[in-house]
Amino acid sequence: MPRYRLLPSPAQQVVLRGHCAHARFVWNLAVEQHRHWRPGRKSAPGYLEQCRQLTAARAEHPWLAGGPQMVQQQALRDFARATANYLGGTHHRPSWRKAGRNEGFRVVALKPRDVRRLSRHVGAVRVPKAGWVRFRWSRAVPPDVKSCRVTLDRAGRWHVAFAAVPAPVPAPGNGQVVGIDRGVAVSAALSTGELLRVPGLGGAERTRMLRLQRKLARARRGSARRGRVRQAIARLQARQRDRRTDWAEKASTGLARRFDVIRVENLDITGMTRSVAGSAAEPGRNVRQKSGLNRAILAQGWGLLARRLRDKAPGRVEKVKPHFTSQRCSACGHVDPKSRESQARFACTACNFAGNADVNAARNIAAGHAVTARGGDGAARPVNREPQLLLQSGQ
Ligand SMILES: [Zn+2]
Repeated sequence: MPRYRLLPSPAQQVVLRGHCAHARFVWNLAVEQHRHWRPGRKSAPGYLEQCRQLTAARAEHPWLAGGPQMVQQQALRDFARATANYLGGTHHRPSWRKAGRNEGFRVVALKPRDVRRLSRHVGAVRVPKAGWVRFRWSRAVPPDVKSCRVTLDRAGRWHVAFAAVPAPVPAPGNGQVVGIDRGVAVSAALSTGELLRVPGLGGAERTRMLRLQRKLARARRGSARRGRVRQAIARLQARQRDRRTDWAEKASTGLARRFDVIRVENLDITGMTRSVAGSAAEPGRNVRQKSGLNRAILAQGWGLLARRLRDKAPGRVEKVKPHFTSQRCSACGHVDPKSRESQARFACTACNFAGNADVNAARNIAAGHAVTARGGDGAARPVNREPQLLLQSGQ
């Protein structure tokens, strides 16, 4: 997400600070509501419920009603995303936002006419209630910008980051279906037998990262040394993020081009159960740091791939119920937990089928039926032939 230095006038700064305060207020309301909730326990309010509560809160507080509802709703959406990341095991639990730190808000539904170039080095973006806010045009702005995030750092500098939604990739029209499983050892396994690996840090980089993290834990809060270590970590993370993004773009374009229908497990469910299992099996925080790092990289790569697939193959990605996908034999349909010989290997106890456990799961997902309760995804299928499952027989 390219980031630019934002240059608001003093009057605009007052408006932007107001938006930040509203976003923070709403975010903290959501944190408050979720505070007593633990994974596995039901009934923390969802995004829609929170939106209803936001409407009520706006009726109660004129201060809140004075700000744009869109900014406040997006804060809830950000919170929902942060909660999903937490449940997926890739991020910390969303916590309180403090004034003067983590300040920012999101503007969505940007149209091409809302971003313009004023001169060689200056652009402007339209922000609700603030009007055209100038920014430093330090590099090209992506053509199809859909949203932006405005942030204020601790040093008082404003930035804007633009997010573009990639254009849909046309369906090949070959009627083929592929199943994708979020792998244990690899990022994703396809029902074709292909294994996708998200590039992470190299061996030396990983060792360096662990050393830096230990240094950070020892460094005194607020010290100059701590600042330097943080920066070094941020640089390594940025390198890793760039590789991951590049990989997700290429992999998602390839899949959207090759298959008419792409089936994945319903992530909302699996993310939750897997993170619960993970936290129970791993009580200590610094235990097995290395495997934790690997897992986080895999999970982030998977999440990014899934998002890009939804962008590039709209209406062609189907969510499938995750029931027994890892225990069911994709050859004969027999369900037996003992068939899962190990994390990596599946060997059916009923027939003699054996193979990669993630690929076996991907084949079950390819054969699965879309979850219809959540609506949306399966409705606009562009193929008029009955889709054929693309399975590999010799696995
Ligand atoms: Zn079998």
